[in-house]
Amino acid sequence: MPARPILIPLLFGIVCATALSALAQDLGTLQPKPLPPLDHPKDPKLAAKELFARKLKPTAGPANSIGSYAKGCLAGGEAMPITGDTWQVMRLSRNRNWGHPDMIALLKRLSVKAHKDAGWPGILVGDIGQPRGGPALSGHASHQLGIDADVWLTPMPDHLLSREEREEMSATMIVRDDRLDIDPKAWTPNHWMVLRDAAQEPAVQRIFVNAAIKKALCRDARGERSWLSKIRPWYGHDYHFHIRLRCPIGDKECKGQPDQGGGDGCSASDLAYWFKDSIIHPEPPKEPSKPAHAVTLAQMPAECRKVLNAPNAKQ
Ligand SMILES: [Zn+2]
Repeated sequence: MPARPILIPLLFGIVCATALSALAQDLGTLQPKPLPPLDHPKDPKLAAKELFARKLKPTAGPANSIGSYAKGCLAGGEAMPITGDTWQVMRLSRNRNWGHPDMIALLKRLSVKAHKDAGWPGILVGDIGQPRGGPALSGHASHQLGIDADVWLTPMPDHLLSREEREEMSATMIVRDDRLDIDPKAWTPNHWMVLRDAAQEPAVQRIFVNAAIKKALCRDARGERSWLSKIRPWYGHDYHFHIRLRCPIGDKECKGQPDQGGGDGCSASDLAYWFKDSIIHPEPPKEPSKPAHAVTLAQMPAECRKVLNAPNAKQ
């Protein structure tokens, strides 16, 4: 039933298809270079990502997720501390450990549950968002509101990772070479427990995983299964999973998505689309695709201009 995946909001598809290169495997650098100042920061044609990427601190004041997942920003962002008892943040050079306080609290809670339920020492946190959200210079077009976060499918090692390890360590590939199922050498029963713990959080609306992982969850999950409906197959996502929250209560300018309907998504027809040869092995485009037009500040919600121009929080 090829129509089903179209139910997944198209917007995410558009942005995520271009973000496939931004996986956990992108290596960081120990000496990140500051971005050079812009020659014409007021140029109306300038891509908004150039402006948001140069904001290294959040705004002061209350948190507010503004706009839509792929065209929005974040006021009052909070940093995920880079090390906790049960988590460590990876790729620090990207400065993308900023999110809505609801997301930061959720990741901390999830890390404790992963430790307690799955026996992991903790979780490895990948990209959340920039200090003021918004579009980023590389990949991850949907992490703009501070309510999306990537968690590695690799348990946290039981030692404090060095800066170098955090930039260069690779996440574990969970999907088998033929892409039809998980790699039994990499997948453990504890993986489904961590994914279940994340999906059972009431504020979580969707979790994106590779279809092979969804298939494994459908097969392996024990006990109550309603949480499986939040776990949706998507391209990539074979080293990490992507947690998306609903718009935080009170964030009136946050334009979210409807909840996912339609059962646990485990029937043969639910999954068939994702295992078609044309999806697993897509034909390369006949002509190189034109780069997508980058969003300008004028095309973003007006409130995001204020977020961009507000002074730095004192922290
Ligand atoms: Zn993501």
